[in-house]
Amino acid sequence: MAHLRAVLDDLRERGTYFKLRVLDDEQGPLCHYDGREVINLASNNYLGLCEHPKLVEAAIAATKKYGVGSGAVRTIAGTMRIHVELEEKIAAFKGVEACVVFQSGFTANAGTVSSILGKEDFILSDELNHASIIDGARLSRAKIKVFRHKDVAHCEELLKEVRNEPGRKLVITDGVFSMDGDIGPVAALCDLCDKYGAIMMVDDAHASGVLGRNGRGSVDHFHCTQRVDVQVGTLSKAIGCLGGYVCGSRDLIDYLYHRARPFLFSTSHPPSVAASCMAAFDILESEPERMERLWANTKYFQAQLQGTGFDIGGKSTPKSETPITPIILGDGRKTMDYSRALFEEGVMATGIAFPTVPEGKARIRCIMTSEHTRAQIDQALETMTSVAKGMGLV
Ligand code: PMP
Repeated sequence: MAHLRAVLDDLRERGTYFKLRVLDDEQGPLCHYDGREVINLASNNYLGLCEHPKLVEAAIAATKKYGVGSGAVRTIAGTMRIHVELEEKIAAFKGVEACVVFQSGFTANAGTVSSILGKEDFILSDELNHASIIDGARLSRAKIKVFRHKDVAHCEELLKEVRNEPGRKLVITDGVFSMDGDIGPVAALCDLCDKYGAIMMVDDAHASGVLGRNGRGSVDHFHCTQRVDVQVGTLSKAIGCLGGYVCGSRDLIDYLYHRARPFLFSTSHPPSVAASCMAAFDILESEPERMERLWANTKYFQAQLQGTGFDIGGKSTPKSETPITPIILGDGRKTMDYSRALFEEGVMATGIAFPTVPEGKARIRCIMTSEHTRAQIDQALETMTSVAKGMGLV
């Protein structure tokens, strides 16, 4: 196993080796990692639902009623009524025929892409799509064509190249790109799919609970619900729990029940998770002020960053249009050093370097939530600026 040590040594030399930071309390805007109090700019807990009392109560009640585990994969004996109810609730919320819930957003993407296509088919995928789409595409053994980021004309060129080939064509984009926070060209790609008879798929992991009516996602934001064949969402970010889902036609969902490998070969959620997710969808409808606070905080934070000298995207990288706000430093070592220094000064903003982002595009990624107070945001900004000045970064 010496080759593993060699890779780790290489990471240490480049300054991008990391130790996992350990959260001591709940995933809040002010919390403790490794015993240190920090303003938390690193979570995906967009709406503060990870610690919402109604989600906690739902989990406890479901655990008392149904126990802690489902005991089997969905197709053998592990489909509990609460799993079915959650799928029905999500389908109704999204305005689609049917929904299947997976154990994570990752398995929803990978399990779907790999099962709906085969060797003869083609996948046209944005170059910045999430790793789970890339892995699913590879597992499908379809031919993969990557189009330049959000470049609809390039996607069309690639579609033209393969239009006379016998295989099916699937166009995939993230609704919100996880590292830059920009929004995918969903409507324009739907137009292409109509024109070339391709299947349209959107991964709405970071748009669920963030964009669209009451957080219905980017597909709703672009009024494309009836035009997107496969809509993936996550239950792990704004929904505050764990899981992923696929929405679409009844046939698509029935097919995935029979063919998606993570669905077939991995045990379903504990009942507590399904119960908390159901409570979360109720809150999306009943507490729209959470989304309003999320967007107000995002606009404030991004406006304050203007003029500070930080590169927050828009030049060599895309410009954020959502609560995900990268601060691009380029060099991996510099980025990790900056992130560590921020932590010492009470701000948790994780450094992200190659291979999660391209070489030379390392960044710290800041994510606003509805629960950050103005005082916390101001304090974080002040710390970010003073530490950056001290290190000669701005
Ligand atoms: N898609 C995107 C765009 C993501 O950012 C993520 C999470 N990193 C996922 C899918 C996977 O979601 P989950 O964390 O629920 O597995």
